[in-house]
Amino acid sequence: MKERSSKMISFAVVLAIILSTTGNTFSYMRLGKGKISGGAKGLLYYIDSSASEYSDSINYGIQYWNNKVSTVSVARTDEQSYSRCDVYWGSYFPSNSGVIAQTYLKLNNIDASYDTDWYWCEIKLNSQVFKYYADKTQTGLSYFDRIGTACHEYGHFLGLWHVSDKTAIMSQLGDGRTAGSPSADDIAGIKAIYGS
Ligand SMILES: [Zn+2]
Repeated sequence: MKERSSKMISFAVVLAIILSTTGNTFSYMRLGKGKISGGAKGLLYYIDSSASEYSDSINYGIQYWNNKVSTVSVARTDEQSYSRCDVYWGSYFPSNSGVIAQTYLKLNNIDASYDTDWYWCEIKLNSQVFKYYADKTQTGLSYFDRIGTACHEYGHFLGLWHVSDKTAIMSQLGDGRTAGSPSADDIAGIKAIYGS
């Protein structure tokens, strides 16, 4: 009896060690050494008229990052000149490319290196897949996945790269992403870049 209870205690200790190790192991990946110039707080984004049909899911997705970490905040603007993130919708990629969306990091008007800080970005949503028909007669992204896609793309702007963990918003939809908003792993990545 005594031996049994001591085994149970050691089992509990081992389990506690495993749990704490798991809790401290993150799989987030950075794009490179760069980040948003001046930090990720107080930034504005602009939705082009081409994407206005999807404003609702885009707003949800991007603004999911708000309040997750105190060093990140983002709000919509109708004045493109103030925007640090412009969202477009169109036929940018071949229909068989599998590309749902692409984020282009910019320094002035040229593409930025991932290893130096960038200033703004363009998010291009692929019209070939970024649509949902309620009658299911055609394929397209569900409302949940449109929100997740906007959130994922803004995660690239923040400086995060893909992970294989399907519960992280930075995993790819084509790999079976189940997340619709930033996970603890995604948040840890943001804190690693911009602080807590
Ligand atoms: Zn991506």
